[in-house]
Amino acid sequence: LTEVAKVAPGIARSIVKELRDQRSNLKLIASENYCSLATQLAMGNLLTDKYAEGFPEHRFYAGCDNVDDIESYAAEQAKQLFGADHAYVQPHSGADANLIAYWAILSARVKTPALGETDPSKLSREDWNKLRHELGNQRLLGMDYYSGGHLTHGYRQNVSAQMFDAYSYGVNRETGLLDYEAIEALAREIKPLILLAGYSAYPRPINFRRFREIADKVGAVFMVDMAHFAGLVAGGVFSGDFNPVAHAHVVTTTTHKTLRGPRGGLVLCCAEFAEHVDKGCPLVIGGPLPQVMAAKAIAFTEANRPEFKDYARRIVQNAAALAQGCIDEGLTVATGGTDNHLLLINVHGLGLTGRQAESALRECGMTLNRNSLPFDPNGAWYTSGLRLGTPATTTLGMAEPEMREIAAIVKLVLTHTRPETIATGANAGKPSKAKYMVDPAAKAEAKAR
Ligand code: PLP
Repeated sequence: LTEVAKVAPGIARSIVKELRDQRSNLKLIASENYCSLATQLAMGNLLTDKYAEGFPEHRFYAGCDNVDDIESYAAEQAKQLFGADHAYVQPHSGADANLIAYWAILSARVKTPALGETDPSKLSREDWNKLRHELGNQRLLGMDYYSGGHLTHGYRQNVSAQMFDAYSYGVNRETGLLDYEAIEALAREIKPLILLAGYSAYPRPINFRRFREIADKVGAVFMVDMAHFAGLVAGGVFSGDFNPVAHAHVVTTTTHKTLRGPRGGLVLCCAEFAEHVDKGCPLVIGGPLPQVMAAKAIAFTEANRPEFKDYARRIVQNAAALAQGCIDEGLTVATGGTDNHLLLINVHGLGLTGRQAESALRECGMTLNRNSLPFDPNGAWYTSGLRLGTPATTTLGMAEPEMREIAAIVKLVLTHTRPETIATGANAGKPSKAKYMVDPAAKAEAKAR
């Protein structure tokens, strides 16, 4: 850090402040964690100075022997961890991993009779445009953003909705759960090229065997984005019907959430898609990040150890305890609890938006994020929900008693927060959706606890 400070003292100060922030506020963001020091050190070094476009033993640059070793080792560890046929460890992020998976599936499955040529650069402009048209007409059926799906699953503000003719399935309005019969009916009607499962905010398990049956019935490729729960798969908590790797053709993930690795992405797939996935560079990305692949190698090795199974089990136990604690405190927990690492609290009944609740809790030392709920009247910006997760607090060694205490503090803060009244304009006199006031005594007590 001294070296950093010599060049840009402000950056060194921000790093130290971030360290303080992450140590002094309770990290309840469901998609965050604390990776190990070994992972961090593998990421922050001279490996960043190496270009290695291509894949192991097939590079566009000289001198890639060490990066070959790193990438091959990381891929082997990932295959072992998840029991996958093939692993591609280059994606810089979960969004990249999804783009690579989409294009790999399109490349493998979309072939027009006129286009026998497999090398796109050899196509005439006319044939290339025919192919682009064909690719753009393919259908994607993924989970609706408001039901917990991710932006990259065909949300209109994301490029995935421009690449595909995108459709979505949602949760049942009454139960808040996925309805497999309804999904099957929709899939039969739409006949997507890709049926996609996976979420950012859904607190219950998904039956991937059932999804695969649906995909097979309609001739779709079954893809799962396990970005959020990869650690629970690696740790054996999600097994059998609930293990996506056993049932999907292609699985993508981030490496930094429950999996507790560096910020990055990963694609796993069966043999049919391996060659196409390996073309992620140059299909989507340029040079991979050797330092991040080294850090992934460390994190996958850590996750292959027996202790990780215990960690994954405790994440889920803690989330269940936190959900029960919130219910006991009188808070409204979506679907009545959780079976994974996250839970959703509905704050609408407290007269708050998710945005106000998020900010009030942050003022009181708890970092979590607002989240829209299914059929949310407050939309994606203000929202009516909060998403809480236990991967990071579990890494810190917290257990059920701490979860109950967290639930009590969340309740204390939320019930002592009021929206401010809008002073002027067309909405004068109405409660603000953004501004709020936390009772100072409750704030002091929350911070002290
Ligand atoms: N997929 C899912 C399900 C996610 O929840 C996220 C991130 O939150 C992503 C993909 C994107 O990951 P990244 O932020 O690494 O691009």
